[in-house]
Amino acid sequence: CGITGYIGYRNAYPIIINGLKRLEYRGYDSAGVMLFDGTNINVAKTKGKVSDLEERVAEQIIADGNIGIGHTRWATHGVPNDVNSHPHISASGELVIVHNGIIENYDSIKKELQTRGYVFKSDTDTEVLVNLIEEIKKKNKVKLGQAVQIALNQVVGAYAIAVFDRNKPDEMVVARLGSPIAIGVGKEFQEYFVASDASPFIEYTKDAIYLEDEEMAIIKKGRKVHVRKIKDDSFVDPQIHELKL
Ligand code: GLU
Repeated sequence: CGITGYIGYRNAYPIIINGLKRLEYRGYDSAGVMLFDGTNINVAKTKGKVSDLEERVAEQIIADGNIGIGHTRWATHGVPNDVNSHPHISASGELVIVHNGIIENYDSIKKELQTRGYVFKSDTDTEVLVNLIEEIKKKNKVKLGQAVQIALNQVVGAYAIAVFDRNKPDEMVVARLGSPIAIGVGKEFQEYFVASDASPFIEYTKDAIYLEDEEMAIIKKGRKVHVRKIKDDSFVDPQIHELKL
């Protein structure tokens, strides 16, 4: 299973797809991608290989946009099929998530959200998490980063996640507990890469930040990455590692 993501000025699609191919060694049963073209969230996902996803994208969506996230899934909750594949979109259509790992207490959160009117399309724990983030964001009137942080303090489990909010399209929030996240930093912060390891972005940048467990990062085009602890909100000064080929 793996995650790739891009925010910047290049066409995101080839970076995301080629990145997913480099993460294939991690094993998976389904693959998906979300691209934001400035107006629309375009999602394609399928059971099968990254090559099947490429065919799906060619048939289905306009592969345009400088922002996107990709995923290879190793199913834990819900069988491998197209609907359970990631990315998952929140009920309002505003938030998009990719997730590796398991949300152990998803069932009780799901029931609680259902009493508030949330309807779920998939059988995944991940769709519960993206809607929990949405509910917190609306109820507490907080920004995406804070909503993700509050949500992660309510979940039990393991995760690497990347979350996109169409209201803040130059931003991405990532977090890790038990599953890796590497962030590639572009020149003058004009582009950022996200991946399960640095292999998807090594030809674009040599500067990488590796999140530690229980850390999250707010990645915004044009400024430094903000890293903080999920549990106590303290800021972390991120170490930049120099990648070697
Ligand atoms: N638990 C999630 C699912 O079943 C993520 C699985 C993964 O790590 O790819 O959809």
